[in-house]
Amino acid sequence: MEDPTANFQWEYILIDNKKIKNAWCMPGGKIAFYTGMLDITKNDNGLAAVMGHEIAHAVAKHSIERASRGMAVNIGTTIIDIASGGVLTDINRTTGQNVVGLLSEIGIMRPFNRKQESEADYLGLIFSSLSGYDIRETTKIWERMKEANKGKEPPEFLSTHPSSDNRIDKINEWTNKVLLEYPPIS
Ligand SMILES: [Zn+2]
Repeated sequence: MEDPTANFQWEYILIDNKKIKNAWCMPGGKIAFYTGMLDITKNDNGLAAVMGHEIAHAVAKHSIERASRGMAVNIGTTIIDIASGGVLTDINRTTGQNVVGLLSEIGIMRPFNRKQESEADYLGLIFSSLSGYDIRETTKIWERMKEANKGKEPPEFLSTHPSSDNRIDKINEWTNKVLLEYPPIS
């Protein structure tokens, strides 16, 4: 199979904003984490779980899938332009707000559908496991997310990634299978 990331140019940035609990990966391999999200991920395994999930959305080209479904033409192209144009290198100097607005406009921050979320959960487990992280942390992230959601505004990540016990059950179900079939690449 052709490598779906052949044209990706991986770039990782950490945006210093404690108030935003979110992370994303654009088609093209530009990944951003907000420092607020680190309260939820807590450790390297947790970080890898969220990163694996976001990378899976990009690898499976979910936002383009979605864009081509209902939105105006050229949106897919716009996403690719932005992903490859180095726009994100300017993010560090801002609060991230403008970028979030821009991403919302083109649909990156909108909720994916349930099938896409499930696909990203499954692929994310595989990516994290192949990379050598402990994927048993993954369900703990969703538990912490649920906890953070209690009695206040839900963190941004939850508004685009609704948590459910069903989701946690599924991830639990997949974890042993992935551990066996996709062990770390040494
Ligand atoms: Zn997702």
